[in-house]
Amino acid sequence: MDTSKWVCTICIATKGLRGADLDAWPDYDDEEAIAAHIESVHHIPVQRQEESAAEAIVRFALAQPEAGGPNCRCPTCQTERGFCRPHPP
Ligand SMILES: [Zn+2]
Ligand SMILES: [Zn+2]
Repeated sequence: MDTSKWVCTICIATKGLRGADLDAWPDYDDEEAIAAHIESVHHIPVQRQEESAAEAIVRFALAQPEAGGPNCRCPTCQTERGFCRPHPP
């Protein structure tokens, strides 16, 4: 298993993937790519190095207006509602 890959631990947890499956799992080029994935797919704000926590929340709220609402896809909302959306290509 290539531990240098950027993989999404949330996707792995929700899909129940094992280490043996990890090589087949989509990975990401760098930290920014996976941060963008986590924000857009999992609706979790990720603070970037160049911004404050408050700036991250504001940017995230503007970019992901559904987060925190009835269509929020964060892990907490998914668990409480009992659904899991497919991973994007
Ligand atoms: Zn993911
Ligand atoms: Zn949520």
